[in-house]
Amino acid sequence: MSSLAPLDASKVQITKTTTPKAKLPKEELVFGQSFTDHMLTIEWTAEKGWDTPQIKPYGTLNLDPSSCVFHYAFELFEGMKAYRDANGGIRLFRPDMNIARMNASAERICLPEFDSEELIKLLAEFVKTDSSFIPAGDGYSLYLRPTMIGTDAGLGVSSPGKALLFVIASPVGPYYSTGFKAVRLEATSYATRAWPGGCGNRKLGANYAPCIKPQRQAASRGYQQNLWLFGEEDYITEVGTMNLFFVFNKDGKKELVTAPLDGTILEGVTRDSILALARSRLPTDEWTISERKLTMTEVAERYHKGELVEAFGSGTAAVVSPIKEILYKGEDIMVPCVNGESGNLTDQVWKWLGDIQYGREEHEWSFKI
Ligand code: PMP
Repeated sequence: MSSLAPLDASKVQITKTTTPKAKLPKEELVFGQSFTDHMLTIEWTAEKGWDTPQIKPYGTLNLDPSSCVFHYAFELFEGMKAYRDANGGIRLFRPDMNIARMNASAERICLPEFDSEELIKLLAEFVKTDSSFIPAGDGYSLYLRPTMIGTDAGLGVSSPGKALLFVIASPVGPYYSTGFKAVRLEATSYATRAWPGGCGNRKLGANYAPCIKPQRQAASRGYQQNLWLFGEEDYITEVGTMNLFFVFNKDGKKELVTAPLDGTILEGVTRDSILALARSRLPTDEWTISERKLTMTEVAERYHKGELVEAFGSGTAAVVSPIKEILYKGEDIMVPCVNGESGNLTDQVWKWLGDIQYGREEHEWSFKI
């Protein structure tokens, strides 16, 4: 086993494109629709370990139709961003968290694990290579999509003996180009996103395809996203592809609540960051920050008592996404949005994170390239 080659960023080979793409005006960027000139690829085999990392022109993959990724969903991915700061510098946001989660996803579906620091070095090299694609301006960034697939040819159901780790990058604009737009949610219990002992806490492609049909059903009724419930108690887990926060106020005592990491929710980098910032920055005599189980019944009861003051989703794409309405058991729970389309804490968290991501505030979470 010890003769297996580890992932080694120092070996990277860079082949530049001879046909650079024309860049879209940043106002025309659509999430995940255009890609940079290059991609990072690294092959792995059970016999040899990690092969030479390659940064090479963006292009199609050539895979045998019997490859295990196509049949048994040996696929995992990550979502993270590179930001251009006011001085033209480039920063990643907590890449160690994304890459640790990527390794945890790999472990869950028997794809190969790797040295996280080496992949972060390679990501930095890749982002530097395509840095001219990173749009400047608040809300703009380069979305990075690290991915790993099992590539063994053959229909046997077993752990992959071959894998491909690749990273592609897409320049993106602000999620909310004209200010926040609060969303309506349908609390969903007829379909379940994740369950105890399952793999909802891992970022596997197999967790996403089954969520599209319930999302379309909710959309057909005028609700943009599902609020995924679990169990007979209707425990609150996540919203769409975001973690979920509620703010309650009982006689001036405020509580920020999100579901605990019990294996049924994705361990969001944004979620973790919001909890840490709230714990260190909100006054402790006024606020309690809770990771605890929360049912839809509690939310409905506290709404009726006038204690529900805010709700928002959190994730890399939108940072925070305010919520204005939740359909539960035939009733529309109207979440107050005191600032029109958002609440005070939603606005505060948005600013805190943006300041760190764009380097307006120096913080240990910023990884400068
Ligand atoms: N939950 C799910 C199911 C997701 O796909 C995502 C997006 N990665 C999140 C939560 C938010 O995670 P993060 O803050 O790391 O983007």
